[in-house]
Amino acid sequence: FESSMSDLLSSLNEAQQAAVKHFEGPALVVAGAGSGKTRTVVHRIAYLLREHRVYAGEILAVTFTNKAAGEMKERLGKMVGRAAHDLWVSTFHSAALRILRVYGEWVGLKPGFVVYDDDDQNTLLKEILKDLGLEAKPGAVRAVLDRIKNRLGGISEFLRDAPDYVAGILREDAALVYQRYQQSLRAQGAVDFNDLLLLAIELFENHPEILHKVQQRARFIHVDEYQDTNPVQYRLTRLLAGENPNLMVVGDPDQSIYGFRNADINNILDFTKDYPGAKVYRLEENYRSTSAILSLANAVIAKNALRLEKTLRPVKGGGDPVCLFRAPNAREEAAFVAREIARLGNFGQIAILYRTNAQSRLLEEHLRRAQIPARLVGAVGFFERREVKDILAYARLAVNPLDSISLRRIVNVPTRGIGASTVAKLLEHAQQHGIPALEAFRQAEAILSRPQQVGAFVELVDELAEAAFETGPAEFLERVLDATDYKTFIKDEPDAEDRLANLEELLRAARDWEAEFGGTLAEFLDTIALTASIEEPAKRVQDGKLEAPREKAEEVTLMTLHNAKGLEFPIVFLVGVEENLLPHRNSLNRLEDLEEERRLFYVGITRAQERLYLSYAEEREIYGKRESTRPSRFLEDIPEGMLTEVNPFGEFGRGVRPVTVGWAAAPSRPKLAENFKGGEKVKHPRFGNGTVVAALGGEVTVHFPGVGLKKLAVKFAGLELL
Ligand code: ATP
Ligand code: MG
Repeated sequence: FESSMSDLLSSLNEAQQAAVKHFEGPALVVAGAGSGKTRTVVHRIAYLLREHRVYAGEILAVTFTNKAAGEMKERLGKMVGRAAHDLWVSTFHSAALRILRVYGEWVGLKPGFVVYDDDDQNTLLKEILKDLGLEAKPGAVRAVLDRIKNRLGGISEFLRDAPDYVAGILREDAALVYQRYQQSLRAQGAVDFNDLLLLAIELFENHPEILHKVQQRARFIHVDEYQDTNPVQYRLTRLLAGENPNLMVVGDPDQSIYGFRNADINNILDFTKDYPGAKVYRLEENYRSTSAILSLANAVIAKNALRLEKTLRPVKGGGDPVCLFRAPNAREEAAFVAREIARLGNFGQIAILYRTNAQSRLLEEHLRRAQIPARLVGAVGFFERREVKDILAYARLAVNPLDSISLRRIVNVPTRGIGASTVAKLLEHAQQHGIPALEAFRQAEAILSRPQQVGAFVELVDELAEAAFETGPAEFLERVLDATDYKTFIKDEPDAEDRLANLEELLRAARDWEAEFGGTLAEFLDTIALTASIEEPAKRVQDGKLEAPREKAEEVTLMTLHNAKGLEFPIVFLVGVEENLLPHRNSLNRLEDLEEERRLFYVGITRAQERLYLSYAEEREIYGKRESTRPSRFLEDIPEGMLTEVNPFGEFGRGVRPVTVGWAAAPSRPKLAENFKGGEKVKHPRFGNGTVVAALGGEVTVHFPGVGLKKLAVKFAGLELL
């Protein structure tokens, strides 16, 4: 025991040790990227268990993503063994859902309530807008509702503060939509993602005895990435922490990147005011990145005006210079990345980070072509595909018969002769009598003249509802496919092969989930709801398959900068460092937004451990139109000498070099020739030595003995004058 205890502390520096030893009362660990904040939380939890003999069932750790929660649990499992099972490690949303599954009835939720995703929300909003005769985009209205719900003031604050028009409709009308929307959600036994937190707060505020019970389960609370909490999460934390807060929050104001979702950086800046007597721990050593990478990061973030200065020193040595690649267009940028990755090998150590999801397509294409195994995290939209949604709608209806969005989705899918007018009639009846839609379907005989098919449909739903209790998710989904003959239904569609494959994939996902967690269908649906909304599962770039859980393959990782928070990779390619992308075009008008973009850049840079590549293209297709672009203004923040420009062929012709990490030639890059008259002796990285025979505009024709004549663009050929 003694030795394991010293292990716990000996792998930490003094400042980290002090934070780990912190016992009761509030604490703030504030420090730059890669300084070991997350590691400190993990060790602190182990220390609580071992040294302070705190019971694992009294410890809560809140992480930003479900994935981070999984990793934290795994690390703790290795450190403390079985006790890790009793720890509560989760995101805010997962934690709230778990609480509501137990106490939901106290805030008016029905057992078996479902969590609607964006798509369900849009469907519901479309209907409400139509009902009210309002012209607005459901997606835009949803964004407004999100904003209302991510504050705490609710609808009254909205009516006071919002501009006259939002999402193209009057503020008052938007408020009306909001109310209708909430009523409709509840009537269907549904909540949306934001409701999870709001309802947990409502529960705690109105039922102190329940709050008290949950507080027993969370006597020691940790919140990682605290700089990105929004007012709702702040309130929830406060409630849970209670009168005697044993609350340790950990974060870095320079990495606050979710302002657009109402994250409030002041939560971390004001922590010591909110929690008087809080101890503050500052970590100043960065263990992640080489000093070449870290000095670049520090130089970039120093340009933000709205920030507190802090120290961050590298522990690692100098390292390779940070490379900058300027590509003539986005295609060449992607080609460069793929080529360079092929040369480097070690695919599992490499990540490609970008600002917008749209950027991934070209990268995927080039990686696939180069046969480089890769996985794409996020934005897969797998659970949004039609066939997947259809089958899951059956599952949701089986679990929650009130869910009329799901009911309407599948009432005639596959086609079973229940026409739109029949459905409309039944729904109208339901609305008039204030009964659930399925109830009206049950009474079809009394309402319709020809109710036959409706009866069969209701029978099917009842049958599935029963099966939902008796079978696991995988078997249940198979039963849906059988009972509905869904595969036959889609087999003649043009993209049938894809769709069938997706269904296979869904079954596989269900089986994997069962093997790993072994829960009920309802729990499986919860997992999907929680992961699909913010963090899609990863997808293989090669074959489009979902990644099996916990598989740590040798694959390149592709993801957005937002998704990369908290992670680290030996080698990082940060692409599209351009105006209008990074900073994003929507953020150019306000200093606050621009600074958030700079923080995002900082987050990206600080993911890299050993080697970092920045790149930008001089031309890119935007909304299908080719546009010329400019390098990001953030590149101007970087002092001379911190970046080494590289050319597309330069040192890495055709993979003849040893495939190891090491940009041997980069620092001593030869001077590249630019102006030719003819007659010059040159060296080309691939074709060897040659003689310029003609030069016109930006192009030269060179004769290479044994190769022949080559016409080359001077700018990109990487010719060296001999
Ligand atoms: P971020 O701000 O990006 O979330 P962080 O502050 O949470 O970063 P960690 O991810 O905890 O930093 O740590 C960064 C890396 O440094 C990890 O690989 C971690 O294992 C390592 N590290 C942290 N502290 C030490 C230490 N004292 N000795 C050795 N390695 C350490
Ligand atoms: Mg961290």
